[in-house]
Amino acid sequence: MAPEVGEILISAQEIAGRVRELGALLAREYAGREPVLVAVMKGSVVFLADLVRAWPGPLDLEFVSAESYQGTQAGGVRLVLPQDLGSRVAGQPVVVVDDIYDTGATLEHVCEALRALGPADLRTLVLLRKRLPPEARRGRGRPDWVGFEIENRFVIGYGLDYHGRYRNLPYLAVLGGA
Ligand code: 5GP
Ligand code: MG
Repeated sequence: MAPEVGEILISAQEIAGRVRELGALLAREYAGREPVLVAVMKGSVVFLADLVRAWPGPLDLEFVSAESYQGTQAGGVRLVLPQDLGSRVAGQPVVVVDDIYDTGATLEHVCEALRALGPADLRTLVLLRKRLPPEARRGRGRPDWVGFEIENRFVIGYGLDYHGRYRNLPYLAVLGGA
């Protein structure tokens, strides 16, 4: 294994169990409605792919992309939205799906952009939420649903990268030496 892949934090089995719970919970929450899941690329795509298959109910998918990290350094947030996103989310229940809530800046930016498009309702789901001191958070509020709370360490795998690598690890690991 590459030395960049450190201790396994959450195994593939643990992830699968929690994703099944989240799928069932959200299916109940949205029973009788057809939400639009807006996934924040690229980190959330592995989670999204498992989540939608654990969610027995009608839903639609849209994608936005946000880039906020240069390696492990936090930077600004750059958002790219598809041109027709407005017509897809206006008047609809929307669930933003992201990989990890760190400072909260990314989710806040995405939610601001989506709110401007007039969804009927806007909620947020993240696989991971880092435990940070309150002064380190930049987003107000917190995600509506969280898969796992984790310590403040840089993690890779299950969609999360380090310089573009390791998204395809089936588990979540700490970056070696981090
Ligand atoms: P925030 O804007 O909440 O500070 O950071 C959220 C984004 O930063 C995530 O969507 C993810 O792309 C990236 N990020 C934050 N923490 C980590 C981490 O521990 N590992 C990886 N690979 N990306 C992270
Ligand atoms: Mg991201």
